[in-house]
Amino acid sequence: MKLARYYAGGELRIEEAPVPACPAGGLLVRTEACGLCSGELMTWYLDRKAPHVIGHEVAGIVVESEDSRFPVGCRVVPHHHAPCGNCELCRRGAFVHCPTWKSTRLVPGGMAEFFAVSAELLTDTHRADDLNPRDAALVEPLACVCKQIRRLGNPCGDSVAIVGLGVMGLLHMQLLEGAVGFDINEERVDRARRMGLDARENSLEHKFSNIVVMPGSEKAVEFALDIAAPDATIGLFAPLAPGAAPLHPWEDYYFNDIKWINSYSCGPNDTAEAISHIRAKRVKALDVVSDFIPLDALPMAYGKMQRGEILKAMVVFD
Ligand SMILES: [Zn+2]
Ligand SMILES: [Zn+2]
Repeated sequence: MKLARYYAGGELRIEEAPVPACPAGGLLVRTEACGLCSGELMTWYLDRKAPHVIGHEVAGIVVESEDSRFPVGCRVVPHHHAPCGNCELCRRGAFVHCPTWKSTRLVPGGMAEFFAVSAELLTDTHRADDLNPRDAALVEPLACVCKQIRRLGNPCGDSVAIVGLGVMGLLHMQLLEGAVGFDINEERVDRARRMGLDARENSLEHKFSNIVVMPGSEKAVEFALDIAAPDATIGLFAPLAPGAAPLHPWEDYYFNDIKWINSYSCGPNDTAEAISHIRAKRVKALDVVSDFIPLDALPMAYGKMQRGEILKAMVVFD
């Protein structure tokens, strides 16, 4: 089978590899769709695990099954990590810090014609026979958005500003009706407006009590601080690169009572919420995926998405 392997420095290669075996108690899945995640464009982060097969925003058809809940022929959306559900961290809902969550993964990864889903991962795997595979492949990124919104305390739309109108910003806007979205890129602002969203080029005209910053960039965090009302909550959806730090003086954050909320990945509660939004058609792949491509076109699309030339690529397998 074919797969896409990431090499340090941001190089992606399409390679041949054997189809993985069906794990004991798990599934072997034929991939139908796999989104290219914005997080996979952070080369400093990916270089730490290179070389490896990328892809985790997946939907596919079960071709071998050792679990009767997921019979051969059904469509599944597995999360690429799943928690044990019993440890101290799981009991308080900190699923992404559970050692089982961290040790589980899809084999070899989602950007492959087939992938194996271990028995542990089935606790966060959904049946999605009723969904189009392209929409189903949005469950994981949307679940990360659900987590961020929950951690902000489910704020009401008009108190919220979204900084950055790439794909993750648009997904936030779709779930936070009335939120105001900002971007420095005119094209992105226009696209969001065409979707009926309140999108603006960066301006300091209004202050907001809840702000979510999409890109892991100092400039974006500084802009969030500029539009933050006193006592505002700022959610960081992506990490800043190692060594990066916003230029604002730290004492400003203190005297303004700024609350920082980090939100890393998502747990089973979030995937369950995300799939319900997709079933309700609040979010569709066609709204946020600009390029549906074959696997062979992924190395090219990777560079384009990284440079901001395309919104989001999704590989569709035939
Ligand atoms: Zn993702
Ligand atoms: Zn656990």
